[in-house]
Amino acid sequence: MSGVETMTRPAVLILLGPPGAGKGTQARMLQDHFGLVQLSTGDLLRAAVAAGTEAGREAKAVMTAGGLVSDEIVLAILKDRLQEPDTAQGVILDGFPRTTVQAQALDKLLAESGQRINAAVSLDVDDAEMVNRIAGRFTCGGCGEGYHDTFKAPTVAGVCDKCGSTDMVRRADDKAETVGQRLAAYHAQTAPLISYYEEQGNLQRIDAMGEIGQVAKDLSAIVKEAVA
Ligand code: ADP
Ligand code: ADP
Ligand code: ZN
Repeated sequence: MSGVETMTRPAVLILLGPPGAGKGTQARMLQDHFGLVQLSTGDLLRAAVAAGTEAGREAKAVMTAGGLVSDEIVLAILKDRLQEPDTAQGVILDGFPRTTVQAQALDKLLAESGQRINAAVSLDVDDAEMVNRIAGRFTCGGCGEGYHDTFKAPTVAGVCDKCGSTDMVRRADDKAETVGQRLAAYHAQTAPLISYYEEQGNLQRIDAMGEIGQVAKDLSAIVKEAVA
């Protein structure tokens, strides 16, 4: 025995990008390939809304309008989720942080537990593509697999490839009227995080305009390097 312990710290990856960029799609693939756990604050908030908790009731109107839920609520929900033991395998943060306050709070939280960000990857897509992606998006209510009317249709229409469920759902906020608000919130409050992580030396950018498989390949190469 050398007496020297090698500490393997759980990986922390951040996926940045506008609504519809493919964060959820890619996070699920990374979860399967790298054994990391996807943490989507959007999913956690939708669960809180469905459960009718106090946070959920407050978040609902903001989400429907396409704004950002308060940092207090989002941070509380994320901290709770990070207490669960599965996150010790490492996490992919999908849709968090979305404001500078959230990014600073995350840095503080990680520092307290001796962790650090392995990489913050920005999935770059233009506004027109983002609108197309959101317009055709639907999700399996059984297992959460994401689909698209044109770009990722299930093999058998209406049936989930992964779990066979026929319960397909469309998000209430994936409507043309709300997309403009979400995009504005992204540009005003989230896009500045690209410089934030660039200054930290943690930023990676990928062209997310390509096909799902190509983006996954580019992202995997980055993740392999970042978690090594
Ligand atoms: P986000 O989590 O960033 O909002 P999603 O992963 O839900 O985005 O993707 C938005 C929609 O676009 C989904 O319907 C998904 O199937 C589809 N999609 C994701 N990545 C791509 C891609 N590279 N090319 C075409 N469609 C994509
Ligand atoms: P998308 O990436 O497709 O816009 P999400 O599922 O990540 O969708 O988020 C849906 C909604 O949930 C957002 O429009 C916002 O209202 C809220 N939300 C999710 N994550 C955050 C966050 N980190 N901070 C504030 N609001 C959030
Ligand atoms: Zn399914």
